[in-house]
Amino acid sequence: MSETVSFVERASSLVLSWERRGWILYDSDIQSVSFLYSHTFGGVGTELRLWLSEHGIETLDATVNFMDGALLASLKLPGVELGCEAHRRVEVIGLAVPNYFPACLSEYEGRARYYPRGDMSECVLFGPCGRSYAGATVREDEQ
Ligand SMILES: [Zn+2]
Repeated sequence: MSETVSFVERASSLVLSWERRGWILYDSDIQSVSFLYSHTFGGVGTELRLWLSEHGIETLDATVNFMDGALLASLKLPGVELGCEAHRRVEVIGLAVPNYFPACLSEYEGRARYYPRGDMSECVLFGPCGRSYAGATVREDEQ
């Protein structure tokens, strides 16, 4: 029973500390909480975020897991789900979360805020950058 209370206390303190930094809680279960970073791309509201997501562009998000008394965060950096190497989303796992917030998260937040989402348009519109045109040429030659 005390573990349950501890989990609830930890989760509420953690959620509060992340929300103060602009993270939005969007999912939770008995062992984890998930956030997205609202300041990604200089700040996106829910409608724009959903529109971007429908087009394959995702914001910085994070899941914090409670495992064996420790808090570990994994991040998915902003980017395109099926993009080129430069624009594809990268996952960072196993960040320790002392005092409810990993110190190194500030750097990822800063990069997400200034990440130029316009640079990903070619990936989104034509496929992975630099390969789509070559691929289209190959297809035309094959016909
Ligand atoms: Zn690209």
